[in-house]
Amino acid sequence: MAEKITMGDDGVLNVPDDPIIPFIEGDGTGVDIWPAARLVLDTAAAKYGHSIEWKEVLAGEKAYNETGEWLPQATVETFSEYLIGIKGPLTTPIGGGFRSLNVALRQILDLYVCLRPVRWFEGVPSPVKRPELVDMVIFRENTEDIYAGLEVEAMTPDAKKLRELLEDAFGWRIAEDAGIGIKPISKTCSQRLQRAAIQYAVERGRPRIHWVHKGNIMKFTEGAFQKWGYELVREEFSDVAVGWDDCGGEPGDRILVQDTIADIALQQVLTRPSEFDVIATMNLNGDYLSDALAAQVGGIGIAPGGNANYVTGHGIFEATHGTAPRYAGQDKVNPSSVILSGALMFEHIGWKDAADDIVRGIESAVADRIVTYDFARLMDDATEVRCSEFASAVADRL
Ligand code: NAP
Repeated sequence: MAEKITMGDDGVLNVPDDPIIPFIEGDGTGVDIWPAARLVLDTAAAKYGHSIEWKEVLAGEKAYNETGEWLPQATVETFSEYLIGIKGPLTTPIGGGFRSLNVALRQILDLYVCLRPVRWFEGVPSPVKRPELVDMVIFRENTEDIYAGLEVEAMTPDAKKLRELLEDAFGWRIAEDAGIGIKPISKTCSQRLQRAAIQYAVERGRPRIHWVHKGNIMKFTEGAFQKWGYELVREEFSDVAVGWDDCGGEPGDRILVQDTIADIALQQVLTRPSEFDVIATMNLNGDYLSDALAAQVGGIGIAPGGNANYVTGHGIFEATHGTAPRYAGQDKVNPSSVILSGALMFEHIGWKDAADDIVRGIESAVADRIVTYDFARLMDDATEVRCSEFASAVADRL
């Protein structure tokens, strides 16, 4: 009988062979990519004796149409109870109570890590010469930074109040017609993200970690992120990792932890990708970096993502692209982003063999030049297939 995934006292997930996993189908192309992804996930799980009981929960337009709410409380409670889930893309309601449903879910469940592995699959068209050198995993902080939503609109009473307060307290003069945003970066949130990145590198045998920050300018936020990261390495991980300054760039058999200023990092991930491996950074930098990197390896149709809290065990894995409404219901778009997000979810719950198989299945289908429209238009001799046909091609290769 299907059971819940639970968190053990030892901080390790207890995953039954037949787990119940909640899913949100997603708006727009969700109706195409979710069933396609599900076929591949079920096939890969079955190969290793697992069977998933998928439990649908509602969010986005489907939820609004059925319940009048964009993000029903029942959905949040189900994700909270079952710990691990997966979702398709969701429409951001315009003029609704949420900035974004995705952001709301991350904040409510305190999913502080946004995990974005970026690697190239052989045969995938890429705008760079050596896409095979890109194999990075981005840990993007999900709860703070300018994304925390602490901002006031220009020319409003709130903006006036805040301007006056800042001038009285600090002598800071801000233009009368300025909107003002606040950028909190705390030691607690920085270090829990950095801890997750180091633990990931240790578990996966990744040799290098970069803190990416703009600390030369924003000294007490981004600069502090860098400083706290090195402190963490010294205090908690000195047996397995070492900062650049503490070893002169010669880490021996430990993980080398270094840092790079964000603007240079955006250049270097393009010009010297093999020097980057695990990257931990704050919310906004992480957003720019992950999309720029996704472009290097074939675009957002193939970029997976996950949002996790490594302490409570919660994780929601998701396609990183949006709902692409103009293709909705056409069985056309690339389902790889959700499929690979599912593989990431399998890896997260300890089903590494099934996850590896899925990656190989996609590699093999693309190597055989069986692709959806987005890749076909960039390849010379590809066979363009529908979304569901691509999923079947991957499932057949597992
Ligand atoms: P989008 O849905 O990501 O689509 C932008 C373009 O990306 C598409 O026109 C298409 O490019 C390409 N694309 C997207 N999904 C693809 C797939 N599965 N396979 C291949 N190509 C794909 O971005 P948007 O149009 O800006 O946003 C639409 C809605 O999605 C908005 O309501 C937005 O708020 C929401 N959104 C949700 C999420 C999320 O739930 N995680 C993320 C971003 C946006 P071509 O037309 O060039 O082929």
